[in-house]
Amino acid sequence: MMQIVRHSEQTLRTALISKNPKLVSQYEKLDVREQRLMNEAFQPASELFGPITLHSRSDWITSHPEAPQDFEEFFSDPYRKTPSPERRSIYIQSIGALGNTRVISEEYIKWLKGYCEAFFYGLTVKLLDPVSVSATRCSFRVNDHTQNLQIHAGHILKFLKKKKPEDAFCVVGITMIDLYPRDSWNFVFGQASLTDGVGIFSFARYGKDFYTSRYEGKVKKLQRKSSDDYSIFDNYYIPEITSVLLLRSCKTLTHEIGHIFGLRHCQWLACLMQGSNHLEEADRRPLNLCPICLRKLQCAIGFSIVERYKVMERVQQDWAAVVRLCVPPAF
Ligand SMILES: [Zn+2]
Ligand SMILES: [Zn+2]
Repeated sequence: MMQIVRHSEQTLRTALISKNPKLVSQYEKLDVREQRLMNEAFQPASELFGPITLHSRSDWITSHPEAPQDFEEFFSDPYRKTPSPERRSIYIQSIGALGNTRVISEEYIKWLKGYCEAFFYGLTVKLLDPVSVSATRCSFRVNDHTQNLQIHAGHILKFLKKKKPEDAFCVVGITMIDLYPRDSWNFVFGQASLTDGVGIFSFARYGKDFYTSRYEGKVKKLQRKSSDDYSIFDNYYIPEITSVLLLRSCKTLTHEIGHIFGLRHCQWLACLMQGSNHLEEADRRPLNLCPICLRKLQCAIGFSIVERYKVMERVQQDWAAVVRLCVPPAF
């Protein structure tokens, strides 16, 4: 089953520009080149933006019907968060080791920082000093099915909220340890609190071996001397940072921070903000925003679309160099 979600030219035009005279005139104030780019959203033969394709019934749109959000709905959402002049920093907090050596961890997080800085052009991305799992005082467990270590997502969010600096628009935690939201749940890829502007995302399942029998992160039994004994995390398995893991983590981070800005799942065009129900669907999602979501982000941050594209292009050129440094993907 392969299905294409194609909207009419008129629907896409309204979703992007809206019919509200104030928003129309705001759109017309954009640079002519910017408008030409954005108008590609409703050119049926556009080479830049295409329709969403659904590959199975388990894909997001089919299994999670939600109301679409056009630009006007985003614009008039009273609850969405906008960076204020005093709060224009995105903080990244790593929890536990990210790579197998300190150098790999540092290179990896520096890359994520640079990527986010280009994507959210106009905001500053800062790194908080890495912390160990024990520093968060979170609960943890061994998953009964997958036998890997998991940490409690809600406890991490509480920790991040307490640490949130004055100038932070948001703080996002990243970890290579799998997450669970509550005892009865199997796992989550991530969790965020939009009101607190904090999120935690795990890349544990993005490694090449997580879903294979060769997966080395299995733990036999949870043995600990006391409730504050976190020694099991000391030399715990970390997936290899391949180019695929890097790509997946860049996509996840920018998608999730997009939610913190109040962008909802995109149902207009193939777009980074499309929802995803499983890894294969997340991999299919493009790295870039469609014009409708780009206008939302532009409205929240206030960057020049042309300038942002220039910086993004530079980062994507560096990408080639980084991919050469990474272990080649095995699949
Ligand atoms: Zn999402
Ligand atoms: Zn979109």
